[in-house]
Amino acid sequence: MNDLRCDADRLATRLVEWRRELHRNPELGFDLPLTAAFVARRLGDLGVEVRTGIGRAGVVGILRSDRGSGTVLLRADMDALPVQEAPGREYGSTIPGRMHACGHDGHVAMLLGAAELLVPRRAALSRGVAFCFQPAEEGAGGAREMIDDGVLETTGATEAYALHLWSRFPAGTLRTRSGPVMAAQDEFAATIVGRGGHAALPHEAADPVVAASQAVVALQAVVSRCVDPLEPAVVSVGSFHAGSAPNAIPGEARLLGTLRSFRPEVRDLLRRRVREVLEAAAQGAGCRLDLDLTPGYPAVVNDARAAARLRTAAVEALGTDAVLEASPLAASEDFAFFLERVPGAFGLLGAGDPSRGIDAPHHSPGFDFDESVLPRGAEILARVALAPE
Ligand SMILES: [Zn+2]
Ligand SMILES: [Zn+2]
Repeated sequence: MNDLRCDADRLATRLVEWRRELHRNPELGFDLPLTAAFVARRLGDLGVEVRTGIGRAGVVGILRSDRGSGTVLLRADMDALPVQEAPGREYGSTIPGRMHACGHDGHVAMLLGAAELLVPRRAALSRGVAFCFQPAEEGAGGAREMIDDGVLETTGATEAYALHLWSRFPAGTLRTRSGPVMAAQDEFAATIVGRGGHAALPHEAADPVVAASQAVVALQAVVSRCVDPLEPAVVSVGSFHAGSAPNAIPGEARLLGTLRSFRPEVRDLLRRRVREVLEAAAQGAGCRLDLDLTPGYPAVVNDARAAARLRTAAVEALGTDAVLEASPLAASEDFAFFLERVPGAFGLLGAGDPSRGIDAPHHSPGFDFDESVLPRGAEILARVALAPE
């Protein structure tokens, strides 16, 4: 299988070219005409069966095996972010206010690279491979739309894998684990409706500023007093808006916040307690609560056998010392929807190099990754697909 490594290395220049072409032309959400066409063209050139428009903008390439039914689904997300890229990069975004600031351009290049490696090795596959290019990971849940559109059934997927480049970990390392690896996320928008009035006559008003302030403080106790201390969880209020004058009590206050958790029971508990705390704070001040609690992505939970398979592939590609046990990250990822339906695993491929200034966080204007990891990512994905069942 060492020829796999050589072939991956031979792809290095093209992977960088593909990544940079995508990086210059970032597209958002489900609106990915150039990116989807780019992917479909390359898959078509390889001679695999190509399906487009799955989950609106998703593209799937299917490589069948003569030996077994079922496929290993390998997933890359394709969407960029509404972020203005830091200036001065030769391959920088050509579209103001848009940037591949999460590395999904690299994910597309790696998965196309895996297809390049696997097509000539079709005879060695014990199962088929579905190369799944997904829209709208950044918030809109493109994975769910592809699943609702039947991507698992049409491809016959029995397992699913994805890699995410990660600029905060050293280039050429891989982190994965069995069990939860990325958090479930929910968001709330709470409007505490009181009765506005003169700030000098508070007894004639119902003050939503006081109610919302007490709510923010009380919410801090949800995790510290209600959640098992051995279970990770987050409740954060990220926005607090009320009023506009020093001498007027406003009619309402608005809080926006996010909840993160790793297990369904904890997720349910957070959702219930956050509602109760907000209601109690509003009622205590004679106010009313309007609450929108929007479910986000579930937790990414790796299957034990699939995580072991990913680890083995990564050891072959990167060496034993470079493959590490992941700590769960409180960020979230819609690959979770695939893992709710089929066993699989998600891994973080380190792509940072602080000595070259490549360590800006994901979603920031200075984000970049070390392109030398692209062949290794393609190789790991290919090895996962080639691994015996
Ligand atoms: Zn992201
Ligand atoms: Zn991402």
